[in-house]
Amino acid sequence: MGKDAAQTNVSNTPRHAAGGLGALASTVKHVAAQAGKLQIARTLLRVNQPDGFDCPGCAWPEPKDTSAFEFCENGAKAVAWESTKKKVGPDFFAEHTVSFLHGQDDHWLESQGRLTHPMRYDAATDRYLEVSWDDAFALIADRLKALASPDEAVFYTSGRTSNEAAFLYQLMGRKFGTNNFPDCSNLCHESSGVALSQSIGIGKGTVTLEDFESADAIFVIGQNPGTNHPRMLTELQKAAQRGAKIVSVNPLKERGLVAFTHPQHKLATLTGNATPIASHFVQPVIGGDLALFKGLCKLVLEAEEANADGAGSVLDRAFIDEHTTGFEAFAEDLRRESWERIESESGVSLAQLREIADVFLNADRVIACWAMGLTQQRHGVATIQMVVNLLLMRGQIGKPGAGACPVRGHSNVQGDRTMGIVEKPPPFSDKLGEVFGFNPPQNHGFDVVHAIAAMRDGRAKVFVGMGGNFAAATPDSGLTYAALRNCGLTVHVSTKLNRSHTVVGRDALILPCLGRAERDETAAGPQKITVEDSMSVVHASAGRNAPASEHLLSEPAIVCRLARALFGSGDETPWEEFARDYRLIRDGIADVVPGFADFNARVEEPGGFYLGNAARDRVWNNAERRAAFVVSPIPDQTLPAGQLRLMTLRSHDQYNTTVYGLNDRYRDIADDRMVVFAHADDLRERGLADGDRVDISSHYENEPTRRVENFRVVAYDIPRGCAAGYFPELNPLVSLSAVAYGSNTPVSKLIPVTLHAAGKEES
Ligand code: SF4
Repeated sequence: MGKDAAQTNVSNTPRHAAGGLGALASTVKHVAAQAGKLQIARTLLRVNQPDGFDCPGCAWPEPKDTSAFEFCENGAKAVAWESTKKKVGPDFFAEHTVSFLHGQDDHWLESQGRLTHPMRYDAATDRYLEVSWDDAFALIADRLKALASPDEAVFYTSGRTSNEAAFLYQLMGRKFGTNNFPDCSNLCHESSGVALSQSIGIGKGTVTLEDFESADAIFVIGQNPGTNHPRMLTELQKAAQRGAKIVSVNPLKERGLVAFTHPQHKLATLTGNATPIASHFVQPVIGGDLALFKGLCKLVLEAEEANADGAGSVLDRAFIDEHTTGFEAFAEDLRRESWERIESESGVSLAQLREIADVFLNADRVIACWAMGLTQQRHGVATIQMVVNLLLMRGQIGKPGAGACPVRGHSNVQGDRTMGIVEKPPPFSDKLGEVFGFNPPQNHGFDVVHAIAAMRDGRAKVFVGMGGNFAAATPDSGLTYAALRNCGLTVHVSTKLNRSHTVVGRDALILPCLGRAERDETAAGPQKITVEDSMSVVHASAGRNAPASEHLLSEPAIVCRLARALFGSGDETPWEEFARDYRLIRDGIADVVPGFADFNARVEEPGGFYLGNAARDRVWNNAERRAAFVVSPIPDQTLPAGQLRLMTLRSHDQYNTTVYGLNDRYRDIADDRMVVFAHADDLRERGLADGDRVDISSHYENEPTRRVENFRVVAYDIPRGCAAGYFPELNPLVSLSAVAYGSNTPVSKLIPVTLHAAGKEES
């Protein structure tokens, strides 16, 4: 495996910088491409503002003092995409069969516009036909009540769902009798939640935005902030400018970490003056992060043991003694670990590890940030725990300027989990039953992977999706499509047409809902919803645009009307009151969910309120009641000869499964998504060259080969033996059985593949 792919100085000429004129031009292009440009421009002035609405993009927090333009290029794309005046209504569906729609690519589907009417699938004509809301709710209620068990229903949630809708959704599903609440977190940060809960007693990050102002070193691990959390570059730029060390740990050297020009800094943008962001680039092989961080931990221990000043000269012994458990066993395991294995499994040389260890050792305050590059690995949980081990060695949790920072990719994915969207009884289950007068189910439900298997096997018959694009976001696309088609009923609450609407059960419904930027008016007046960002700040969001159609309902209204249809007039839960006045929903949340007392009052504070984080206060709510050092062996992930480690990722014109355009400006890809990045030497070894067309096959033990066809190879700066490409196009290659230990997250980082000339059988 390639060692020492790392280099520290890269040119920061504009072509190599993120942001700047390129971001401005792209923003203008995407806004201009949508109908209703003026409205979109006005709408952008309200995004992420204290009295505005929350960006439907990622979960990066707002600063206390927001700028007039508190959005990034990709936030603007998300708002423009949702605020388009293009419409998809009964006429559109009358023109297109579902089979035709299924044959279109994801960009085409979503660019058709906003859904305007509830629609029901008609198998006889293979088309969607308009249906009334009442009939739609009656149909769903009848199908649910006809099930042999509540556990034959699946209630999926995407991270765009507000706290209010999520709380009501789980209340409805649990009153119905199931814990089948798979959510997009299962596909993204589940490994973070599991790892952190075991290590430090809470599944959330411990840092706040203010910590970035005083950190001396920031590790950005398996994350591409330039595309997926662009406003994070503002904090990284400030940190770099004040001399903080920023270490990028990623098989790819991503543009946003090379250099950044803040598009709102006029002079810099005009002159193209860019700030180098990362001081160090480490490019481990895909899946090599556990070995890498174990190597760093070993170097820190060696520094302590070699230090003439003795114990506590390097390690924070006071912190370790007072707040942790398991250090001695961990240290013993590090002493036994071989450098040969660390180097070979990480793909990084000892020399380079020493350089990075010095950055860590010379910093008083260290933040470790990570995203899918870690969480979607087979050993994602153990890898995140090794990162936390490193932080614990020097007491880098629970002090200003330091801590653990999983950066969430969906605006309210963290809030949904806090509201009880989880496939097991939530921590407030008893309180929920007490307040709403029922016995919540205590059995373990289905997460995403289990839900797909249950639908495939006929153990789940009704699928309800609150937002999202389940069919495109999930692995093993062929199998997932068949599983959804095996359902008696599939229901999707959505704003725009997407892949999932074209993968229908024997019966299917599309329920169009309000967008984030739109006014949600009820008999009680304009309503606001709330979300929780990646750093546990809960704040309000209220759109003001006229709804895209008079037939839309809000997510809370959809849940309340469905619940009434399901439970009938005898049910005392005040569903109609909840739908009329969201303050009553928040009162219910305040009564049930810890940390939300006086919810309605606190959410009126400008910028909302911080939920707090026990580990940040060095209170460890795990089984040991102490921060736990976790011992993990370095797994041997060697693949058979000829195979490459593939990872899926987003392009710069993409947000989750939403494809805004076909370019990937930061990787110099134009107008093409059917690409696979690989090292030139690996291509040469296979008789391939940059630009050749290939088919890609994935290989899992005792499973049939999976194959996708006609991709263009791109010779790219990626470690030997590794490859990368976009999802959802490559999701058909990921086996449903390939999941991360401990979190059951599909493994999209290290898919065992071979590349062979397009149309040719594999030799
Ligand atoms: S950083 Fe994330 S939340 Fe902020 S504007 Fe961009 S996409 Fe939206």
